[in-house]
Amino acid sequence: MKNKLLSLSSILLVFLILLMSSCTADAQENKPAKNIIFLIGDGMGLQQMFAAYTVNGGDLCIDKATHVGLQKTQSADKYITDSAASGTAMACGKKTYNGAIGVDTLGNDLESILKVAEQYGKSTGLVSTSGITHATPASFIANEKSRNNYEEIAADFLKTDIDLFIGGGLEHFNNRKDGRDLTAELQNNGYAVAMDIDEVMAHASGKLAGFTATGHNPRTTDGRNDMLKLSTQKALELLNTNEKGFFIMIEGSQIDWGGHANNEEYVITETLDFFEAVEEAIRFAEEDGETLVVVTADHETGGMVVKDGDFEKKKVKTKFTSRGHTGIMIPVYALGPGAELFTGIYENTEFKNKFMAVWGIPAAE
Ligand code: MG
Ligand code: ZN
Repeated sequence: MKNKLLSLSSILLVFLILLMSSCTADAQENKPAKNIIFLIGDGMGLQQMFAAYTVNGGDLCIDKATHVGLQKTQSADKYITDSAASGTAMACGKKTYNGAIGVDTLGNDLESILKVAEQYGKSTGLVSTSGITHATPASFIANEKSRNNYEEIAADFLKTDIDLFIGGGLEHFNNRKDGRDLTAELQNNGYAVAMDIDEVMAHASGKLAGFTATGHNPRTTDGRNDMLKLSTQKALELLNTNEKGFFIMIEGSQIDWGGHANNEEYVITETLDFFEAVEEAIRFAEEDGETLVVVTADHETGGMVVKDGDFEKKKVKTKFTSRGHTGIMIPVYALGPGAELFTGIYENTEFKNKFMAVWGIPAAE
């Protein structure tokens, strides 16, 4: 009798274990996001995106976004933001003045989502087609009262534990007024320093400082080629080794410059180049299953209008109405775990808290 009870209870136990393991399997299908890939097309409004979409034959990987929202870009004191104030708002969650890098309207340092990620043991990265010290990437890593403090911004990289960065801007690291050679300091801090995209791609593991240009990178049609796509591939491969996950910001910087120049071809080639990086991010996220991808811009540039187009002929007719930035709301495209948080209409200061919520990190205030 005792034996029978024992075997009955052991059958029950096995049944219970089976039930529990099937629950875990279910839970794994709805895993929270471990990694966040944040892609910013500088100056890329809906019109820029749709011009590229049209020239690409009415098809762009962004169709895979499951959730879409709109963000408001106004800075603390201006209807029209610059990339520093909007970058800081997205990275640090606070409205600030145009020109501010990671500081509030009083000049106090703000904490970026990249620094929060570091605190939680995640790996971090920045990739940009401008200088890596330029306003957008700088907003995620530096705290400076002016976006023009390039050498101070470069020095701020060494105050962090960032795992990799790839972009132009070498001159602000090794040709400085204070005589410091930050590339040597980076090496002392355990970084491999790569001096072109081939060296970046050859880097197999560990921290990486990748410099692809002395100043800004050239246009994609002017010799930069697929630097952004390749850098994105390499960055995701390197960051993916941390089981606690990662945060990376990847910027297509020069869509904005095409807008300022009122140069349709510049805008479209840079937007298509940016979407090659987006495609890499989406591919990674689809395979990984624990990665949130968010694609947006910091503001629109050029007041671009799609006047006419033809998907079959892959032709578009556009017009610019401004040489500067405009105040229009900017689309936010998301997919992966947590993507549902990015629907609706909200301020650009919401990104930091949304990213933290995706990771289950309570908001600071
Ligand atoms: Mg930028
Ligand atoms: Zn601009």
